[in-house]
Amino acid sequence: MSFKAIRADKTDTGQSVRFVEMDEAELMDGDVTVGVTHSTVNYKDGLALSGKSPVVRRFPMILGVDLAGVVEASSHPGFRAGDEVVANGCGLGETHFGGYAEKARVNGDWLIKPPPGLTRAEAMAIGTAGFAAMLCVLALERQGMTPRMGPVVVTGAAGGVGSVAIALLAKAGWTVVASTGRAEEADYLKALGAAEVVQRASLAAPGRPLGKERWAAGVDCVGSLTLANVLAQTRYGGAVAACGLAGGMDLPASVAPFILRGVQLIGVDSGHCRAPLRREAWARLARDLDRAALARMTETVPFEKTFEIGAKILAGRVRGRVVVAIA
Ligand code: NDP
Repeated sequence: MSFKAIRADKTDTGQSVRFVEMDEAELMDGDVTVGVTHSTVNYKDGLALSGKSPVVRRFPMILGVDLAGVVEASSHPGFRAGDEVVANGCGLGETHFGGYAEKARVNGDWLIKPPPGLTRAEAMAIGTAGFAAMLCVLALERQGMTPRMGPVVVTGAAGGVGSVAIALLAKAGWTVVASTGRAEEADYLKALGAAEVVQRASLAAPGRPLGKERWAAGVDCVGSLTLANVLAQTRYGGAVAACGLAGGMDLPASVAPFILRGVQLIGVDSGHCRAPLRREAWARLARDLDRAALARMTETVPFEKTFEIGAKILAGRVRGRVVVAIA
């Protein structure tokens, strides 16, 4: 049976990324076949859709790092036809055909059943971005960080990871400082739970190795000078979870915050995190993420608009999260 997909193919001059019709027989190996109903657009999807980045690591490749849908056939002991499933990361859209298709065949070990109370659309509203935000919060908690220690800063605040992180941290009782380049989104960020909104530019210029101690913790989506400044302004004994590179992949920092203030820098990767942590993060999202806040930060678009949203997210113009309705 044929289905619609967004596929990247290698060409003489680079990559071509376009809508194609494919046949089920072309799907890659896997023990669960899924009728995909929803996906989403993360920053990494924007990069892949642009056809100019090295996100895709084998060709041809169906893009989309997230998917939600209903099992059509399964030889995996954990799933049977009719089950609702969600997958994020695990090489989808990079090394294994991903979520921008009406059909997917995947390794059942990558799938989870959406936790009770979370619809497939909500799971994709969370997606890799929201999942990474949850991993950042868990990482701070594991480091012993609590709201009583002081404020937490979230950079790239109006983006997907940032928006979910704000909602989660505010619900957990943190005083959230949101750093954004979009002053016009101040009301949006406050509605999600930010107590204070600061200008992105204030963290983007080269700063001193140690600055005024402003926050106990941080969730950084931006990298580069922003992360360096976040670290330099973290209080004694604080911790920062770093997950993004929206401002650059470099880290022009000094060791001063680490060796003079005992600041911890924690790396967060959502793509290949182990199954127990994956299950814990989804369960916490289902329990702790305010559904009204999730709805406030989410827009739903038809499959045909995926490229448009991809370009928008790379331009830093997507607010919050976007669900792609596939079927
Ligand atoms: P979004 O594009 O939704 O959000 C990124 C935000 O960063 C923007 O909304 C903007 O926020 C800010 N920003 C954009 N460009 C710049 C810039 N040049 N300098 C400073 N700030 C900038 O992306 P996501 O939320 O989906 O992802 C955020 C980052 O996290 C990305 O780098 C992504 O690759 C990474 N990521 C990592 C994961 C992991 O597992 N480690 C998982 C998911 C995402 P504002 O307008 O408020 O300033």
